[in-house]
Amino acid sequence: MTRAARAEIDLRALQHNLRRVRANAPRSRVMAIIKANGYGHGLVRVAQALGDVEAFGVASLDEAIELREAGISHPIVLLEGFFDNSELSPIARYGLEPVLHHPEQLAMLETARLSGSLSLWIKLDTGMHRLGFPPGAAGEALARVRGSGNAAGPVRWMTHLACADDRADGMTAHQTSAFNEALAGIEGERSIANSAGVLGWPQTHADWVRPGIMLYGVSPFVDDTASDHDLLPAMTLRSRLIAVNRFRRGDTVGYGASWTCPEDMPVGVVAIGYGDGYPRHAQPGTPVLVGGSRVPLIGRVSMDMVTVDLRGCPGAGIGDEVVLWGEGLPVEEIAGHASTIAYELLCGVAQRVRQVETAVETPGQLRDSG
Ligand SMILES: *Cc1c(COP(=O)(O)O)cnc(C)c1O
Repeated sequence: MTRAARAEIDLRALQHNLRRVRANAPRSRVMAIIKANGYGHGLVRVAQALGDVEAFGVASLDEAIELREAGISHPIVLLEGFFDNSELSPIARYGLEPVLHHPEQLAMLETARLSGSLSLWIKLDTGMHRLGFPPGAAGEALARVRGSGNAAGPVRWMTHLACADDRADGMTAHQTSAFNEALAGIEGERSIANSAGVLGWPQTHADWVRPGIMLYGVSPFVDDTASDHDLLPAMTLRSRLIAVNRFRRGDTVGYGASWTCPEDMPVGVVAIGYGDGYPRHAQPGTPVLVGGSRVPLIGRVSMDMVTVDLRGCPGAGIGDEVVLWGEGLPVEEIAGHASTIAYELLCGVAQRVRQVETAVETPGQLRDSG
């Protein structure tokens, strides 16, 4: 028998969340961000489910080629551009759109002899201080791109927000005006907004929005959850109980014997652990759904198993369905109990966890995919 741990990917939730992007930013085109294997949901499957977008954004050439080879013909933006010369000819061949953020890349572009010209983006650093040209260097970067003879059509412009997840932070307004001022009088489409920009900062919508996390049904904000924005979780991490044991008051559970039974009680063992991407730092008390009821995690998370307190669920038995996050249990909440963010949990689901998609055409039917 195969292991019970599996990640169910709800393609209709992805499509619903895309409609939420459109409803929030009706005048903008959508570049769906699907880097890191579609935030752990499967790169190609996510691209196919979101076929209605105007472009996709990925982090590397490998991801873009995987999409092309799967027949995805949309514009694909390489958010970090290229890392060395050798990537330029495949970029041209596959018709990809790199983001230029560094003078080294301009130099590579100037010396490249390509089979065709490239659609290019230039990234400005308006305060994130990670990637991008200083706003004052926009004109010079543009001149070098044009002078290279390798650019097709007008260059497009982007910047990335550092603090948009906090609606009280002044950084977003500062970054937005720095971007707009740097580009005053310069032609070309503009893009500022990530998910938090889409949902919380209409002034950042511009020509293109770049939602990632909200497509997967997670709120980008620090102080609310997905349901506040009518987003549906696209991933439900499920497993089953593989043992139910009764222990005595004073018995300890798991590595380090760190948890002690306060009374005689049933303890369930779930087939999920940090080897599957369940966070090892999830604290005792982290909620888990057993047969639909919330029960608390107890003891330490091990590689293949976690233990749960079944006092609130006395009828539970071997084989019962368990939800670790997703439907009925927001991943944001689990992230909070593990001192991390939902992005990390979604991206971290391990290869050994089977992914099962819920088909769009035939609701309710499951298609197994590796
Ligand atoms: C990852 C990323 C996004 C998407 O951010 P979310 O917070 O997931 O919406 C947008 N733009 C760039 C440049 C990114 O790297």
